[in-house]
Amino acid sequence: MKKTVQMYEGKAKKVFKTDNPDFVIVQYKDDATAFDGKKRGTIAGKGAINNKVSNHFFQRLEQIGVQTHFVKELSDRETVVKNVEIVPLEVIIRNVAAGSFSKRYGVDEGTQLAISTLEYSFKNDSLGDPLINDYHAIALRLATRDELDKINRMAFMVNEFLTGYLLGIGIKLIDFKLEFGKFKNEIILADEISPDTCRFWDKDTNEKLDKDRFRRDLGNVEGAYIEFMSRLLGE
Ligand code: UDP
Repeated sequence: MKKTVQMYEGKAKKVFKTDNPDFVIVQYKDDATAFDGKKRGTIAGKGAINNKVSNHFFQRLEQIGVQTHFVKELSDRETVVKNVEIVPLEVIIRNVAAGSFSKRYGVDEGTQLAISTLEYSFKNDSLGDPLINDYHAIALRLATRDELDKINRMAFMVNEFLTGYLLGIGIKLIDFKLEFGKFKNEIILADEISPDTCRFWDKDTNEKLDKDRFRRDLGNVEGAYIEFMSRLLGE
């Protein structure tokens, strides 16, 4: 498969066309942003780590029947994925209170939630990705009821799988963000699952092994990404 022109450059990835319209190549960058792009920096080695970590999770998820955009890892930073039409929703699952949930509802970070929750944000940078509910998403034609039902089912399957898998390597899955796309009229999991898009806490010490180290200037950002990858992949 041949990489052709760049289609798009996002905050953490570039996307290139290929000679096959069904496939594109994503290239992971070391750039990091937070707070709607107001905080910017780089995390050395992050692109290669997120590429490997995300591909590892997507291949495991395929094995349990979750369809994903993953096709083939090409190199350290590049992966062939299906050319989906992204559903403009960020789908957030939470097991433990943290971040915007803690702030919005006044609940301490680290509080175990009575049930795992799901919420959507409308992916729209100029509006600051506002929280949106299912009725509003359907009203705005972002997705249909059937598509949302499928997205919700898949998101909770991802949560069940990842929670158990990560506990096995001593990590608590606090919360995470997923994005879905449409490919040949089917909803499949797209984007990435990595320390950029999840909160991972060490099971015993609650040490943060994710992008909160960058967002909150906690130090040892690179070390945390490396520690996460080596627990997951033994590298
Ligand atoms: N998240 C993300 N991209 C976003 C917003 C959130 O990947 O644009 C992830 C974030 O890493 C965390 C989860 O979604 O794992 C919940 O984030 P939260 O709503 O608490 O927002 P934050 O505190 O990061 O602003």
